[in-house]
Formats: sequence, structure tokens, C-alpha cells
Amino acid sequence: MAARDERPVVIVGAGIAGASVAWHLRRLGEAAVCLVEREAQPGAHSTGRNAAMLREHMEDPRLAPWALRGAQALREGGLCAFRRSGGLLVGRGREAVGRYHRQARGEARFAPGDGVVDVAGLLAAYLRGARLHTGVTVLALEPEAGGWRVHADGATLLARAVVNAAGPWAGELFGLPLTPRNRHLFVSAPDPEIDRTGPFVWDLEGGYYFRPESGGWLLCACDETAAAPGAYAEREEVLLDLGAKLARHQPGLGDLRVVRRWVGQRTFAPDGLPVLGADPRRPGLFHAAGLGGHGITWAHAVGEDVAREVLGARVIPDFARVDRLL
Ligand SMILES: Cc1cc2nc3c(=O)[nH]c(=O)nc-3n(C[C@H](O)[C@H](O)[C@H](O)COP(=O)(O)OP(=O)(O)OC[C@H]3O[C@@H](n4cnc5c(N)ncnc54)[C@H](O)[C@@H]3O)c2cc1C
Repeated sequence: MAARDERPVVIVGAGIAGASVAWHLRRLGEAAVCLVEREAQPGAHSTGRNAAMLREHMEDPRLAPWALRGAQALREGGLCAFRRSGGLLVGRGREAVGRYHRQARGEARFAPGDGVVDVAGLLAAYLRGARLHTGVTVLALEPEAGGWRVHADGATLLARAVVNAAGPWAGELFGLPLTPRNRHLFVSAPDPEIDRTGPFVWDLEGGYYFRPESGGWLLCACDETAAAPGAYAEREEVLLDLGAKLARHQPGLGDLRVVRRWVGQRTFAPDGLPVLGADPRRPGLFHAAGLGGHGITWAHAVGEDVAREVLGARVIPDFARVDRLL
């Protein structure tokens, strides 16, 4: 009888993608799983810098199954807190936005199942009990018999399989054409007139969104600027652009005072589609990358599908496989 391979599945990156893959692997019976994270804390990059909205509607219908499955798990799975505020998609229906937020205008479709995810809570739930090495950067991968030698700063790990969940670094580290794109978020000063429980408002054509946050609004001008992984330089013109968009589309929001702002990275393949599953270049290499602007919504379903591929199934559709980029 062949000896059991004791080498773990090594997951590079403890953002929401890597954490979800790890959680599903363990749930599916794979005990030997190890996450390697360069930062001192997990979730320090895209996972800790997003708008936390769960939006079921996908412009590309091929992506809908991950959004629907992800949404269902977050609403019903008891993994973390979820505020079912609903979401308004401007221009997609005839409901008056002002019915939900009296400051806002326009017509929209109301999606009652959408809402706001407790991202930190979800990440913690996925990582509870997981083997996690923080403060360790994976530098290179070297193939060896039936697996990998994972060279990291300060350690070399032997792996049966490797999962690329490196977010903005996923392209650089694994030789793939993935580009991080910077996006700013702003929070305005608290205002008692804002309904804190109200839905998000997303205007895809107008290129902005906002939702209640900390008593004010969380606002975004839907900017996207290519940047190096981890380069979060702020650009003042984005706030000017946001002001111009709100003046044109939502003048009722009035003069807002920004009290907090930050930049995060959404990472895309050239076709904007995710990069998932087994890599044909080398057995034992898998990707959970290129999650763009929907990684929180998709995380649960994508994590499950990638975990199933690590365990030998083929469940990822061709349009999302890495093969198309090679
Ligand atoms: C402004 C903004 C708003 C967004 N809003 C939403 C939203 O409302 N809803 C939604 O669904 N999605 C949203 N997203 C998208 C979502 O945040 C991302 O798709 C998701 O967080 C990607 O997760 P990840 O795990 O792939 O990447 P990350 O969270 O970046 O995780 C990758 C991890 O890999 C680690 N790593 C990288 N290289 C190495 C290495 N060599 N060795 C060890 N560790 C390494 C990093 O340190 C990092 O922790 C938004 C994103 C942004 C920026």
C-alpha cells in the first residue's frame, strides 16, 4: 500500500479567498491545510479595504451562480453577521430611490436579498482553528516529486498542492496577467437624517455608489487605476470626480464632509473574469484569484469550487479557468 502523503495543501494568502478555500477543504475532509500570509494579520489587503456589499445581480450572467450561492450562504449559513438592507440598482427598475433614502433621487430595482457583510467576522469564521503562518512571505515555488517546495522568507515548506490566493500579488507571484486596480472609498460625517438601516444605492451607468455607514455615507466614484500590488497612493482628483457625479445625479445628498478615506485594490484578468481551479501547466497548482470587485459576494462559492478541484473534481467552467490566459 502506498504511504499516505502527509504534506499539506499550502494556501498562499489569508484574505477572504484563501480563507474560504481553507475552510471548505477542512469541511470536505482535508485535514492537512496550511495558510501562509505575508502580513502580521490576515485580511490586511483587499479583504480589509472593501465596501462589504453583497450584490446578487451580476452584469455578466455567467458569474451569477457564484453570486447566488455566495449570497445564500452568507444570508443563511450563520457564518457571520449580515445586514439584509436590500440594494437599489439605479436604472434597472421603476422604484423611487427616495422611498428608501429621502435625500436621494432616481428610479431603481430593489433587490431585497442584498445587504452588508461583516467581512471581518466572515474571515474570522473561516480561519477559526486553521493552521496559519502570518508574517511569512512566499518568495518562490519549486516543483518536486508530486508536489512543491515552497520557499518563503525564513522557512521552506513542502506542499502536496499549492493554492494561489495572493490577491493583488496573484499575477506577479504565479506568472499570470493579473492587474490590481486602485479604488477609493470615502465616509462622510454622521447625519441623523440618514437611515442607517437603508439599502445601498448603486448607479452602474452613473459610475458611483453609496450606502449608510457609521451614521454617514460610505461613498465611491467607481474609479479604477492600475497600480503595483500594495501601492495605495491616494489621488485627490477622485474626490473631485465623486463630487461632480453626486452633484449631477444625487444633488439631494448635499455638501458632504469626508471624515475617513482609503484606497483598496481590485485585481483583474484582462477579460475581467476570475481565475480559478487547476493550472494545466503543473499538477498540484490551483488558483483562487482575479476576484475583481465581487470577491466578498463570491467568496463562499468560489472557495468551495476551488477546494473541490484541489480534491480532484473538475467543477470550474472553462471561461473562468486559467487555461484561457496561458
Ligand atoms: C474599494 C473596494 C470595494 C470593494 N467592494 C466590494 C463589495 O462591496 N463587495 C464585494 O463582494 N467585493 C468588493 N470588493 C472586492 C473584494 O474586496 C475582493 O475581491 C476580495 O477581497 C479579494 O480577496 P482576496 O483574498 O483575493 O485578496 P486579498 O484580501 O488581498 O488577500 C490576498 C492575501 O495574500 C497575501 N499575500 C500576497 N502575496 C503573498 C505572498 N507572496 N506570501 C504570503 N502572502 C501573500 C496578502 O498579504 C493578502 O492578505 C471591493 C474591493 C475594493 C478594493
